[in-house]
Amino acid sequence: MLIRKLSQPSSFGVYLLALLMLMINMEGCTPKMQPTSPPPATHSPPTKIEQQAPVEKVNAKNIILLIGDGMGLAQITGGMYLNKNNTALEKFPVVGLHKSHSSDNLITDSASGATAFSIGEKSFNGAIGVAPDGKPKETILEEAEKRGLATGMLATSSIVHATPAAFIAHVPDRRQYEDIALYFLRTPIDIFIGGGRSYFTRREDGRDLYQELQGKGYVIADYLGQSIAQVDISTDLNFAYFTADKEPLPVLSGRDYFVPATHKILDYLSHRGDNGFFLMIEGSQIDWAGHDNKVSYVLNEMSDFSTAISACLDFAEKDGNTLILITADHETGGMAIEDGESDGKNLQLDFSSTKHTAGVVPVFAKGPGEELFKGIYENYMIGRKLFHLLDETYQFTSGD
Ligand code: MG
Ligand code: ZN
Repeated sequence: MLIRKLSQPSSFGVYLLALLMLMINMEGCTPKMQPTSPPPATHSPPTKIEQQAPVEKVNAKNIILLIGDGMGLAQITGGMYLNKNNTALEKFPVVGLHKSHSSDNLITDSASGATAFSIGEKSFNGAIGVAPDGKPKETILEEAEKRGLATGMLATSSIVHATPAAFIAHVPDRRQYEDIALYFLRTPIDIFIGGGRSYFTRREDGRDLYQELQGKGYVIADYLGQSIAQVDISTDLNFAYFTADKEPLPVLSGRDYFVPATHKILDYLSHRGDNGFFLMIEGSQIDWAGHDNKVSYVLNEMSDFSTAISACLDFAEKDGNTLILITADHETGGMAIEDGESDGKNLQLDFSSTKHTAGVVPVFAKGPGEELFKGIYENYMIGRKLFHLLDETYQFTSGD
């Protein structure tokens, strides 16, 4: 809620306070008394600590994580050639690769893939925001919300589908859609846009989550009324928009909300409090196109996703304090480009699978903190690095 957000200290403030406590404690208290900061290094003289002041926050104010579900290098390359040998991804100065396997399978599904990003730990296929032992683990979106950042999610699937679900819910099975919907009542995410209206309004338990969300101060609109482009969103209130009863259409069949919704959500979040925001945007159906082995479906979903990326790039350029991170959970379809011309003519694409594949997955970063994402690393390192960006005292390491 906005009131809580405005009364909370910024993470910069928390950091300053932690540093102050650290310096006070150097006078002789035991290091165990500082819950939010690492113990002072005993080998460093106090002057070493003092030399670090003044502390400058180098991290981005805003973080946008874009996930192209099933978007491997061939999907990116196909989209690039089709766009006359250009892709918005060329504007990203830092490129890395992540290893996508899950805790129990070389081939990850989207639930464990997104969970690795959201909690900073690999989990089993099907897992939504839970560790391999099945226990809930805090997600980066929940942490951002707690720290007073504005938070948002936008997907071209239902909002309870595996990828968005992994950022807000904690269930052992991704198919628990109605249970996942209940988590939108627990974490006061500022704005969310996606399909899945029925999981909120026509539930087995008879609850009406539209009503319950409205009771918590949300304004709700959906595809039955005005389009997202037409809706006037008040930045004073939390907001939800449902784009479909269950899963939204492919862009080829007329889905047209992704890009206008990207503009709306960026505009909303940038006017929401002073502490910055965390936003997850998913191009969900690149994956479904790969499962279907349909070339035009893949390329059109890639094109829609690229336009959303460009909108984020434009925003970040004007804002100057936004980190954009783009990656995928895994590749889908084992897609290959087999012939064609670099201007996109006569492209011939083929698939070797109707499932996910295990190749390393690209990561693109631009903005404050971008350098953290170069190199080759496990998928969970994306989550750990995101936690570090919210709080510099969160030290990320690879391994358990
Ligand atoms: Mg997905
Ligand atoms: Zn899939």
